[in-house]
Amino acid sequence: MASESVRVVVRCRPMNQRERELSCQPVVTVESARGQCFLQNPGAADEPPKQFTFDGAYSVDHFTEQIYNEIAYPLVEGVTEGYNGTIFAYGQTGSGKSFTMQGLADPPSQRGIIPRAFEHIFESVQCAENTKFLVRASYLEIYNEDVRDLLGADTKQKLELKEHPEKGVYVKGLSMHTVHSVAQCERIMEMGCKNRSVGYTLMNKDSSRSHSIFTISIEIYAVDERGKDHLRAGKLNLVDLAGSERQSKTGATGERLKEATKINLSLSALGNVISALVDGRCRHIPYRDSKLTRLLQDSLGGNTKTLMVACLSPADNNYDETLSTLRYANRAK
Ligand code: ADP
Repeated sequence: MASESVRVVVRCRPMNQRERELSCQPVVTVESARGQCFLQNPGAADEPPKQFTFDGAYSVDHFTEQIYNEIAYPLVEGVTEGYNGTIFAYGQTGSGKSFTMQGLADPPSQRGIIPRAFEHIFESVQCAENTKFLVRASYLEIYNEDVRDLLGADTKQKLELKEHPEKGVYVKGLSMHTVHSVAQCERIMEMGCKNRSVGYTLMNKDSSRSHSIFTISIEIYAVDERGKDHLRAGKLNLVDLAGSERQSKTGATGERLKEATKINLSLSALGNVISALVDGRCRHIPYRDSKLTRLLQDSLGGNTKTLMVACLSPADNNYDETLSTLRYANRAK
């Protein structure tokens, strides 16, 4: 069923130093055992908290290791067996998206989903018998609805999306890089990251204003007991979304406002696609509404798995953004 192919979890980070200095109050509570999350409106203390239920709800007591093992592991395992999957973190800037996706090297329990996925893939490749794998990586950025190759010879060049009757949507001229190890994958990702368009907002100067998709494609050649060849192909998209905050709070004007409008367009298009998939009754899935959803078309819905980690700040001054993240996540399940 479509709804089983999309899993949504929330993760609430600890209060940060700035929030503590501002004497912010916590407004988010997590009931992990039931996958529930509660949000108290600080302006209406007598109202009961709003309640949301997801496929998982994680608090400061949970490490990325647990999130990976419970939720991401089966998706990545599927990719090594020839299915497509997409993992993304959603939330306002500073809510913990990079923490969840990239993570920390130390402690090891807080290593991110991305390095864990790399390791998982290469472990499967090394352990498989009578099977050969070709693992390739590509890395692109969508900035102001323009697509660029972060690993290409010319990272400034805008690339076109094309549609092939069998291959589906693809990016013309996007470079693909064969990778043999976790270290190679990490190096390539780091190289591409340096080529990203980084802008800054008042909320976090490092906040990225673009979306990026790091794709690991795996071709699996297996020989069965009768000596017959089988070829399967799986693909894992690791999507780094721009912050979901609204423009008013980020103080954006001019070019930044134009960017923000396009960022919001892609995020709402992604929300609409996922909610149409989850609904299951919609015959029309609006993939064509943004470059992001067109590019992910073969990895969202159908025979594929999608994981969304909605990241939350616990503080009362982020109430509006937290509510909007929870509503977005709620539509997707
Ligand atoms: P985003 O990518 O959404 O802009 P970050 O991942 O950079 O946000 O997180 C902002 C800050 O909060 C970072 O300093 C990060 O280390 C910290 N942080 C985020 N999530 C957690 C968490 N679950 N536990 C501890 N620290 C966290």
